[in-house]
Amino acid sequence: MAADVRALAEVWLDCLFPPRCLSPGCSRRGAWICAPCLAGAPALPKRRCAICGDAVLAARADARSASPRCRRCLAQPPAFDLAVAPWLHAPPVTDWIHALKYDRRRRVADLAGQCAAAVVRPHLGPDLARTVVVPVPTHAERRAERGIDVPARLAAVVAASLGVPVAVDALERVRATPPQVGTSRAERLANVLGAIEARRPVCLEHAVVVDDVLTTGATGEACARALKAAGAKRVVVVTLARATHGGDA
Ligand SMILES: [Zn+2]
Ligand SMILES: [Zn+2]
Repeated sequence: MAADVRALAEVWLDCLFPPRCLSPGCSRRGAWICAPCLAGAPALPKRRCAICGDAVLAARADARSASPRCRRCLAQPPAFDLAVAPWLHAPPVTDWIHALKYDRRRRVADLAGQCAAAVVRPHLGPDLARTVVVPVPTHAERRAERGIDVPARLAAVVAASLGVPVAVDALERVRATPPQVGTSRAERLANVLGAIEARRPVCLEHAVVVDDVLTTGATGEACARALKAAGAKRVVVVTLARATHGGDA
């Protein structure tokens, strides 16, 4: 109910104060993300890992194959089966995500979540009918701090766009993790493993895990391990944006 009231208030505020595009230097009136900025948003690298989506160096022997793998996924395949995102983690996408996370622009989630759903849909195929959308769990303290549960909000939009259910509490964050900025992948993984657990029983075979950004993949890895330990067969991670590490870093 509270969420409905907030959504209505946002519609009302948009009428009173028409939105302007959030992209730096744009400010076009009429939408929080205007059509030209959406069309020109930075895409993932063309030559990318078929599992995690990170850039793959052109010099690699399999770089031109139909499904190249980055060095990390070749060395140790992640617990998730696939990670996809509509955009690269670069401006203006970073500005859109900032507005969603810190300014609580819920209507940005509607548009961005639909873009995420469009990117993941082709990878679900016949599994779509048995798919459940699961948000990356956030700790209660972080939710209270921000006033918005971004992954849950995005997951609701993705699930509605795909026409499948969302399992809001399939995963839970049993302890808060320290800020991840500036930490290595190994450190992030050590921080987040054990912090995310599946609530049993998890009655889902095919899970789509939703988050705002994939940086090192540590959070997606922790979610996928928890879901698979609880019985999930296939886990696909979808985020709005993906950071790349310059290819095979
Ligand atoms: Zn714009
Ligand atoms: Zn990879």
